[in-house]
Formats: sequence, structure tokens, C-alpha cells
Amino acid sequence: MALLSLSEALAQMLARLPSPTEPLQLPLNQAVHYRCAEDIFSPINVPSFDNSAMDGYAVRTADLAENRPLSLAGKAFAGSPFQGALQAGSCVRIMTGAMIPQGADAVIMQEESVQNADGTIAFTRLPKIGENIRKIGEDVPQGALVLAKGSELNVTTLPLLASLGIAKVPVFPRLKVAMLSTGDELVEVGTPLSEGKIYDTNRFTLRLLLENLHCEVIDYGILPDDPAQFERTFFEAQRTADVLITSGGVSVGEADFTKTVLEKVGEIGFWKIAMKPGKPFAFGKLEKAWFFGLPGNPVSALVTFYQLVQPALLKLAGGSAKAIADFSPNLTTCTAEPLKKAVGRQDFQRGYFYNNAKGELEVRPVGKQGSHIFSAFHESNCFIVLEQERGNVQAGEKVTIQPFNAVLK
Ligand code: AMP
Ligand code: MG
Repeated sequence: MALLSLSEALAQMLARLPSPTEPLQLPLNQAVHYRCAEDIFSPINVPSFDNSAMDGYAVRTADLAENRPLSLAGKAFAGSPFQGALQAGSCVRIMTGAMIPQGADAVIMQEESVQNADGTIAFTRLPKIGENIRKIGEDVPQGALVLAKGSELNVTTLPLLASLGIAKVPVFPRLKVAMLSTGDELVEVGTPLSEGKIYDTNRFTLRLLLENLHCEVIDYGILPDDPAQFERTFFEAQRTADVLITSGGVSVGEADFTKTVLEKVGEIGFWKIAMKPGKPFAFGKLEKAWFFGLPGNPVSALVTFYQLVQPALLKLAGGSAKAIADFSPNLTTCTAEPLKKAVGRQDFQRGYFYNNAKGELEVRPVGKQGSHIFSAFHESNCFIVLEQERGNVQAGEKVTIQPFNAVLK
């Protein structure tokens, strides 16, 4: 089987996966981490009236040409406007956020005013028309697109909707994701290890990644390498979830049953992806759910999830093409140390980026890079992405890095 490039695998997957179609309406305070199911347009102007950006005096600039003091006509507070129109020769004491009185065309800062003994107000500077006035609709004009379909509802987008008076928002439902680990050697954390056994790391990793992506997680536990149990459990899991994710059993060993079973119950492609770590990977459709089969090595499982499954789940959850492209932006920097790299696969080495003594961004590799070496992962803060056709890298050469996003923290 020929190796498939990661970008080709991603393109094939994203082309097949649908966006969700059935929205639900949620009050704003229950909508955090959901995705908007429709474009949202502003029902009002923000601000909805001209208002003052300063504490000071609202004036008619034409009155100030002769530099005569103005009489004080009254006060305007935020929430309590000055009643009536501003007459020639007068000004209104105005606070930040208060409505600009009719007829006024500028606000002069309090610091640029002098109150005379007779109560009139003089100014130390001539204002320009419009000075210190926040114009109606300057932030958001009525009818403007404020949030595109697929945007995540979070600490920067929900308050925006609140500021427009929108109380409920159409969202896509959370994805239900079933997960399981495969392997006779695996035992549950908390039970003793007997000879030849290891603890199941991947289900632990997967749960956290899925929760960070705000999916509902359904845990099907550990499956022994037994085709009959695979078949039963896969069938059950795909009935209850939108997505099934497994780890282990996707390569060509004698106990790798995922392939045989899935060929019976679904339409699954087994890919050898030109990436390191993480060569074997399965993707496809069961009767009712999408399927992702991750390699068993804990580093490979995490890296393939991050690089392949994460964008796929974003698409299934209603994330826009922009959200998918933005989930892990690339930066260019230099490596402080040489990097070992074989030609033929795209490497995702674990790295640490920092500002060096000259104040320049730099990266160094972290720990051993084997796909079974998990212990140094936590000391890294980025992937060093080395191109498929690249060989060994010398210290000082340019490299691409992908800082870890919130899903990995
Ligand atoms: P496999 O893909 O099933 O051949 O597994 C590849 C390697 O990953 C083997 O050394 C497995 O023991 C190991 N492995 C598989 N699943 C897990 C898991 N859930 N946690 C930790 N190691 C695993
Ligand atoms: Mg196995």
C-alpha cells in the first residue's frame, strides 16, 4: 500500500464528512462551547445612540469661535439624557456613555474646561466637530453580520450577542463520541499489572482530548483481541454515537482484527499515512457513525488524533472552514539544535519554543522522539513539523512549528 500524505488524507476526509443540519435553540448562558448554527445579524445599532466618550461638556462647536464662555444648561448622565435641545450659547455637563443632547456636535474633556465664578464654562481648546462622540452604529451597524455560522460560542462571542440583546442562539448539538481501546495486553488503571501487561493510556488521553473539544464521551472500555467482541461492541457503539474512535489493532500484526471486523460491518479505508509518528490510521463509515482507528502507541494515538481527528470532529460539529484552518496555525522559526529526520514521512517532533537571549523566537527538540516515548510530551509546547522530503536538519535552519492549541493543555 502506497503512503498517503497527511494533507491528502485530510482533504479526502474533510470532503466526505458532512456539516450538521439540525440546530437547537439555547439561552446564551447555556450555549458556551456550542457552535452557532446560523449566521447572526445584528437586530440593532451598537451604540444605539450617539454618546459621549468622556466626562466633560457637550457643546455646539460654532458657539466657540469667539471664545466666549457658555452658560450651563443642565446635565446628561448615562441612562438619564438631557431633556430638550441644546440652545445656542450654552453647554451641557455630560458623563461618559450619556446620550449627546440634540444640537450638540462635540464633547470637550472636563480637563480642558474652566468653571467661572458666575457659573459659565470656558474652554482652553477649540474642539473639532464630532470630537469625543461615539457615533450610532459605529461598533456594529444594524443588519451587519456579527457571527458566521459555525463560530464557537465563547468568552468573546457570547458577550457580543448579549450586547445586541439576543437572548437565544441556534446551535448545533454536541457530538457524541464513543471510544475504546483494543489489546489483550491492556489493563485498567487502578488494577495490578501482571506479566506482559501494560496500562491503558490511550483511553485516558482520548477522554481528555474529546472533553477539551466539548464532545459527549461514551466509554466502551478495553476490548481484548477477539473478533467476536469487536463486532458486537462496534455495532453497539455506532448505534449510540455519531463517531467511534478506537486505538490499536490497525496495523498488520496477527492480532490486528480491526480491519477484518470493520470490513464486515462498515466501509472503512485503511491508510498508511506518510507521517511520523502515526503511520497506520483507519477512517470510514459504519452504518450509523463515522469511524477513526488510531494506532496503538500512545504518542502516535495522540498525534494522529490532533492532526487528523481533531479537524474531522470540528467539521462534524459544524466548525467553519476557517475554524478548521485556524485550529493549529504554523509559525516559522529556527531550531537551536540539530534534528534527526529521515526522508519519506512528515515528522511531528515534540519541541519547546521560547525567546532566546537575543529576543528571537527559537525552538529546540524535547526528549527522545520515539512513538512509544510519552514521558517527555509534557515538557513540550509545540510540534516541530518537518516536511516529508526533508532530511536531517542542522542547528540554525528554519523550521515550521505548531504551538499546541487548547485541546492539548
Ligand atoms: P497495536 O497498534 O495494537 O499493534 O499497538 C501498538 C503498540 O501500542 C503496542 O506496543 C501496544 O501494546 C501499544 N498500545 C496499544 N494500545 C495501547 C493503549 N491503549 N495504551 C498504551 N499502549 C497501547
Ligand atoms: Mg494491539
